[in-house]
Amino acid sequence: MIIDCHGHYTTAPKALEDWRNKQVAGIKDPSAMPKVSQLKISDDDIRETITGNQLRLMKERGNDLTLFSPRASFMAHHIGDFDVSSTWAAICNELCFRVAQLFPDNFVPVAMLPQSPGVDPRTCIPEMEKCIREYGAVGINLNPDPSGGHWKEPPLTDKWWYPIYEKMVEYDVPAMVHVSTSCNACFHTTGAHYLNADTTAFMQCVQGDLFKDFPSLRFIIPHGGGAVPYHWGRFRGLAQEMKKPLLDTHVMNNIFFDTCVYHQPGIDLLNTVIPVKNVLFASEMIGAVRGIDPTTGNYYDDTKRYIDACERLSPQDRKAIFEGNARRVFPRLDTLLASRGH
Ligand SMILES: [Zn+2]
Repeated sequence: MIIDCHGHYTTAPKALEDWRNKQVAGIKDPSAMPKVSQLKISDDDIRETITGNQLRLMKERGNDLTLFSPRASFMAHHIGDFDVSSTWAAICNELCFRVAQLFPDNFVPVAMLPQSPGVDPRTCIPEMEKCIREYGAVGINLNPDPSGGHWKEPPLTDKWWYPIYEKMVEYDVPAMVHVSTSCNACFHTTGAHYLNADTTAFMQCVQGDLFKDFPSLRFIIPHGGGAVPYHWGRFRGLAQEMKKPLLDTHVMNNIFFDTCVYHQPGIDLLNTVIPVKNVLFASEMIGAVRGIDPTTGNYYDDTKRYIDACERLSPQDRKAIFEGNARRVFPRLDTLLASRGH
């Protein structure tokens, strides 16, 4: 089985975006604030947006199942207050749940959190628990920077975040550390802010001792780990300077990287530097980079091709990256698949 651990509902019906625009307008003019009940999306609307898009590409590329969360750039936690985020997260999570209900063999939900800048992360727990218990979410997306590119929250290793981690451990769900849209003109959302955040989250974990407090906590750093694999020597060297243990034991029992790296040399590097046990297959499709690479004639985000072509990997390695590692890192997914005879 091929499991893609990183997909978003980027193709959600236009009604969702229209409703969100009204909600944003309602922040300034409360009389314009739309009701949740005004958002009407039918099952057929959902089917149409999935069958012709993600599901079609999954079938063409041979991906069986996608862990599916709300569109990351639309989380936009910097907009409005906690109530605005809370309503928005509930709507987006419910939509991903409906996708999973309509296509149970192909999509399993992952939840976004109703984060809001400066607001205690503990406020996210009710939505998180609802998604896990009622929607069958197997993981969460955790935004280390709800301010959208201004980095106002404490580092991920700070006790500020611990209420979320306690719940993650309780439910045995991992978090993908995933920022949202950048509202800082210096940082392009998917070209800079995403990769900055991936790198930043990893370095925060190197600097801290988070996994001493939470030995079973698991983070997936998306987009191939940002700059981390390329600069592995720098991170090892910095950890050494800081008198931290070797990265193998300091962070690599808890941190995993996905394969959303959109060219062969990048995937080859990832798999040269990062142990196979820490790599999870993903494509983040349909996402930021939707075009065809003129040098190969293939879609940039058709990442399965790169894993297939990576000469360093044995058939067992590929099986681990495509399936085994995801089932280990997302135990609730493993339980679900086992219950279906996989
Ligand atoms: Zn993403």
